[in-house]
Amino acid sequence: MKRRAFLKIAAATPLCVDALSLEPRLDAHSAVREAIYLDAQKSVVAKGLLERLMRVQRMVGFGNFNLISFDVARKVAKSYGSIGAFSPLESALFEELFAFDARSYGFFGAKVIERMNTVLRADEMVKVPSTGHYLYKGEALRHYEEIRGKIGEAIVLTSGVRGVVKQMALFLSKALSLEGNLSQASRSLAPAGYSYHGIGDFDVGKVGFGVRNFTQEFESTDEFKRLMDLGFVSIRYPEANPFGVQYEPWHIKVV
Ligand SMILES: [Zn+2]
Repeated sequence: MKRRAFLKIAAATPLCVDALSLEPRLDAHSAVREAIYLDAQKSVVAKGLLERLMRVQRMVGFGNFNLISFDVARKVAKSYGSIGAFSPLESALFEELFAFDARSYGFFGAKVIERMNTVLRADEMVKVPSTGHYLYKGEALRHYEEIRGKIGEAIVLTSGVRGVVKQMALFLSKALSLEGNLSQASRSLAPAGYSYHGIGDFDVGKVGFGVRNFTQEFESTDEFKRLMDLGFVSIRYPEANPFGVQYEPWHIKVV
């Protein structure tokens, strides 16, 4: 029933920022807020955009994909027939989602990367061996080394620096898995530009714990308890925070 209304409205919806807001619906996480959905047309574009971003990721490698700007992604896509250039609609959607004020989604975290084509400088960070992830030199790296030094090799970096492109890919993937519900997606993933992973924060997990590292189950591990005891866990978004963001015990606040 919901799906039908979704398509009907979408048919007449032009591609513009205002069109992101389609139909008042109750957000599953808030009894008062209306959720914002991608309409059907944009969902199709978003799917194509995400698939192309994934092809770029395969081409540049998982590690590099964390750092590249959309300009670089566009150049790479255009250069390889197996990826194919981003269509004007895909580029427009990327830009539109980046520019969109996430407060409309019910996400009240700060925008930490203002420009879509901000280039993250590889010389300001280090690639952490056998993780595929980067950390900023200085505070973030020191923090990580101290954690490993005190807790041991059972704890590992699970996500480090993430630029706009990587964050957009994660956010799109989450939104598309939720029928285009951008508001709900923003409860567990910061929209592109709003993630502190862009400027220093990182995630850690227990070796061998897999995807459970990104669930509340992580709190039951000895590694998490040690992190707490040693004072490393300074939660960016605590439980019942006013920012509309899920509580993440695996996220290490650096900035
Ligand atoms: Zn995180």
